[in-house]
Amino acid sequence: MKRRSLVAGNWKMNKTTVEAAMLSQDICNHYYNDYDNVETVLCPSFMALKTVGTVLDYDKSDIMLGAQDVYWQDNGAFTGAISATMLKSVGCKYCIVGHSERRQYFGETDESVNLKVRALLTQDITPIICVGENLAKRDEGEKAAIDFVTAQISAAFGEVGSDEAGRIVIAYEPIWAIGTGHTATPETAQEMCFRIRERIAEIYGLETAEKVRILYGGSMKPENAAMFAPQPDIDGGLIGGAALEAKPFLDIVKAFV
Ligand code: PEP
Repeated sequence: MKRRSLVAGNWKMNKTTVEAAMLSQDICNHYYNDYDNVETVLCPSFMALKTVGTVLDYDKSDIMLGAQDVYWQDNGAFTGAISATMLKSVGCKYCIVGHSERRQYFGETDESVNLKVRALLTQDITPIICVGENLAKRDEGEKAAIDFVTAQISAAFGEVGSDEAGRIVIAYEPIWAIGTGHTATPETAQEMCFRIRERIAEIYGLETAEKVRILYGGSMKPENAAMFAPQPDIDGGLIGGAALEAKPFLDIVKAFV
């Protein structure tokens, strides 16, 4: 089954609101309509969501707006938190959940990832669920890494109905490859993405598993994106460092057209 590719830029804690407006405008200015079979998503900080959304709307581009995190409660006394309803109100269509940096620095757990996934689905926002093993786990061998990642998948999908599961996006991001310049080989990434799809098929059946888009993330650059694009179970990329300038980001998008 042919899935539409997806390339998402995770800007992390970078870019002021003005810089975010400039970067999104630069991306729009160089975006071509023949990128039709790839969906492109920009995930700026919460602060810049509205501004970037306005640039994307004004430009009438096909580029979608995404957030980097969400809280699962809808409203109330949760100082500093942002709900899925709030994200929807500024036009977010996607939201990253469970990024390894959130797991490492902000206490994100498999349980909170699952609560966030379910909260997003109620607002019709597509979760981009990040999973991935650290170096110590990878050093235990491929089976240990696969067992770890597929357990993250099972936890993240808990209580998600089969009617919703197919539209979820997974990003396989081995932690040892994020921001390090060391990418997984295309074969290693493909093997893990295949195993992820296999786990989803065990839970929901093959038809649903075939709909789920699985991205690779971890030091993806214009120079290596073309090696990942032909892999049968890799449907795009989640891009950090290379998403902070228009040209390298769009070169990666082009690799998935
Ligand atoms: C990320 O943080 O999601 C990521 C993939 O970062 P980088 O591309 O910089 O490794």
